[in-house]
Amino acid sequence: MRFDTKLLHGECAPDERTGATNTPIYQSVAFRRQKAEELEQIFKGSRPGFVYTRLNNPTIEVFERRMAFLEGGVAAVACSSGMAAVSLAVLNIVGSGDEIVCGSGVFGGTYSLFRNLENFAITTRYARDASTAAFAECLTDRTKALFVETIGNPKLDVPDIAALAELTHRHGIPLIVDSTITTPYLVNPLKLGADIVVHSTSKYINGSGNSIGGIIVDGGRFNWDAARFPKLQEYLKFGPFAYVAKLRAGLHKDIGACLSPFNVFLTSIGLETLALRMERCCETASRLADFFAASGKVAAVNYPGLANNPYNDIAARQFGGKFGAVLTVRLGSKERAFAALDNLMYVLDLANIGDARTLAIHPASTIYIHSSEAEKEQAGVYADLIRISVGLEDYEDLTEDFAAALALI
Ligand SMILES: *Cc1c(COP(=O)(O)O)cnc(C)c1O
Repeated sequence: MRFDTKLLHGECAPDERTGATNTPIYQSVAFRRQKAEELEQIFKGSRPGFVYTRLNNPTIEVFERRMAFLEGGVAAVACSSGMAAVSLAVLNIVGSGDEIVCGSGVFGGTYSLFRNLENFAITTRYARDASTAAFAECLTDRTKALFVETIGNPKLDVPDIAALAELTHRHGIPLIVDSTITTPYLVNPLKLGADIVVHSTSKYINGSGNSIGGIIVDGGRFNWDAARFPKLQEYLKFGPFAYVAKLRAGLHKDIGACLSPFNVFLTSIGLETLALRMERCCETASRLADFFAASGKVAAVNYPGLANNPYNDIAARQFGGKFGAVLTVRLGSKERAFAALDNLMYVLDLANIGDARTLAIHPASTIYIHSSEAEKEQAGVYADLIRISVGLEDYEDLTEDFAAALALI
């Protein structure tokens, strides 16, 4: 089965009971069993079944299976948001006294999370750049996970996933990859050797900006060494499902970060058109990057698809000749950046990415408002930078909108 067909037919046959082609919304807190003994068996784990939506739910389960299939993983756990997915993916294996190694260009929310984890004696070391050598320098005996984004948001740096997987496996630690910006349409990090993939499904997976959600997909291949991961040992009896079994029995259930069945319904509709949307968004983003580069109106354009971009080669190789739909431009000053945003007509000044609409934002004064100057510098968030998430409008309308906005500043 090829990718576009997988979106429609992969792990999502029509509802067995009713024949409904869209998985029905089981908007129910709890599920009745006929016998007390059945409930006991489900709680014990000796019998499959649904009991309570915080633990599992038929609507959510279909979505999890579809995402695991699209990523080439063994199992997936849906979460209430992308941040819940990032938090739980890490906290399932990292505890007090441990260290995380992280890419320096990661999403602001992830930065903030890792800063807050310092309160639990979990330390994060940031690689100085996206090279494999820079990550290698940060590894210590206490490292329990290496976390990267496929394309850093908004730095747009691109680490070499296969090389990082090789590095982390040599050190006995798993590689966790946030593939929100690339989606399974551009890359399957698990196939490049990564161990766990997370997505904010609020972005391209949903595609219309109508539901917050997240997902963790496990490749099921990591070898959880007893000395480094003692807490995982009791789950090794589940074989390739050890990581997901621990997550479901542990923090996912206890923190209660389940996704709502209604959000899953909307997100599943979006998922069907992922390929069409990504194809179009990536193409328009590429054309827009060329437009900005040729305009003479911006101080710098950053897009991995530009031939002179330092990540062009690795991105082309890793993402099958596509480069995502996020680009940044520098306009010379914060005032000019604000003026450009205020002058735009179709392009909306919003904090998300991956919407059907084209969005732009000034990250330094919004998503990174609580970051120090040094953190902003490290994350590539400059005072004059705006981030653009390209949507589905006509390219001509977008260039006219940007040209008019830039002419006025
Ligand atoms: C948006 C985003 C997140 C967080 O997702 P939410 O659904 O907003 O919680 C995590 N990682 C990346 C790369 C993102 O763009």
